[in-house]
Amino acid sequence: MFEYTSIDKYHLALAQGETSCIETVRHYLSTIESKKHLNAFIHVFEDEALKKAAEFDTKRRSGKPIGKLHGVVVAIKDVICYKDHRLSAASAILKDFTSLYSATAIEKLLVEEAIIVGVCNCDEFAMGSTNENSVYGNVLNAADETRVPGGSSGGSAVAVQAELCMVSLGSDTGGSVRQPADFCGIVGLKPTYGRISRYGLIAYASSFDQIGIFANNIEDVSMILEIIAGADDYDSTVSQQPVERFSGALKAKNKKFRFAYFKETLEHPSLDNEIADRIKELFDELKNDGHEITSLSFEYLDYIVPAYYILTTAEASSNLSRYDGVRYGHRSAKQSNDLTEFYKHNRSEGFGKEVKRRIMLGTFVLSTGYYDAYFTKAQKVRRKLVEKTALVFSHHDFILMPTSPSVAFKIGEKSGDPIAMYLADIYTVFANLTGIPGISLPLFKHSNGMPFGVQLMSKQFNEVSLLQASQQLMDSKNTLERLRNTPGHK
Ligand code: GLN
Repeated sequence: MFEYTSIDKYHLALAQGETSCIETVRHYLSTIESKKHLNAFIHVFEDEALKKAAEFDTKRRSGKPIGKLHGVVVAIKDVICYKDHRLSAASAILKDFTSLYSATAIEKLLVEEAIIVGVCNCDEFAMGSTNENSVYGNVLNAADETRVPGGSSGGSAVAVQAELCMVSLGSDTGGSVRQPADFCGIVGLKPTYGRISRYGLIAYASSFDQIGIFANNIEDVSMILEIIAGADDYDSTVSQQPVERFSGALKAKNKKFRFAYFKETLEHPSLDNEIADRIKELFDELKNDGHEITSLSFEYLDYIVPAYYILTTAEASSNLSRYDGVRYGHRSAKQSNDLTEFYKHNRSEGFGKEVKRRIMLGTFVLSTGYYDAYFTKAQKVRRKLVEKTALVFSHHDFILMPTSPSVAFKIGEKSGDPIAMYLADIYTVFANLTGIPGISLPLFKHSNGMPFGVQLMSKQFNEVSLLQASQQLMDSKNTLERLRNTPGHK
């Protein structure tokens, strides 16, 4: 029986003839079918995936050189353009839309011979923390089907968690890769802002948005990052820095690092006691292993969620103004007497409740009279955070934090209380406000049976060290012992 562990091992198995791309794709298609009720996928490209797999098998057997992602089965979030394939941001406003081009990240995956098996469910326009804001319905967490998978990239997280693909792409504007990874017990990386081109990623809040990666291990995350990162003429905010060989750098072992944590993050009243205790134990373990662990104070903790929601809704209100039903997207059947009424009908019917709430909030914080009180003030908070972060990283290699204050919520638990839902983003939005990379590592299991992780952050463009330290944390003897009895852990 096929058992996937990593891209490298899969390639070895292909080289030794133990499996083939077609056999592998068939395996995933049948698992997707048998776990359809999780609602992780919106579209599955069955015929296309099988056709590509057959082509790749022929190519490999003929002895031609193969791509770095030869036959790797990938799923993508419904906010990333894939030419000639449907794209909707899980919204009624784009329900019948087809992409005219592919995102740069997708082009790069395809060049290396990845097989895109389908498009994953998510919160509408990537706004949410539970995947409950999708026009396609909610996604179930495979570790406990009465719970949410997190969001907004819930479908992409469950696709990896439930073994419906090898790796997947999501997007992270305020935690949408790291938080669902935490809720589902897998690895989720949000790279530095500007590391991966945003060309072809549907914009939510452009100065925060990044494509992120879900996988079961650090090697796969590193490999995918190395391929999709890098300069791109189509995105002026992407970095021109050369892309390092992240996967090669993982060989460095037993390095000693300087970790810092903000004591307020572990004392926060919203944090589950057990999560706090396990993370404190991890700090002790790291200290015993010879790493430096420093407690710092962080006076801005209660400002980061408000600053995030002011700035991102402001950007969203502008970004989403393009969905008017004129050139594409939902057009109402109602009779309109003028252009304003026409827009109103299309947008009222096309957008869901949470997206409307954010457009209104964003329009409000940008309005004359309130601009300085909200938008400018939030920009100042962002500036302070950037300064504080630079200071921390002048003396420390990493900041450690919980990824989320609780394990995955029950379905419906927070959907009636948007403020409670927003406040649960307390640990993830920091990395997006400051543009630094963050990764959630699935190191723990709660006594209620749910997985949870810890979040590791480094200074900008320091993914090499971030991934090395992640690898060490994942491989440590203590982690292996902690997870020994966790179902699904490899
Ligand atoms: N939960 C956050 C929000 O709703 C994160 C969204 C995201 O990262 N796309 O804004």
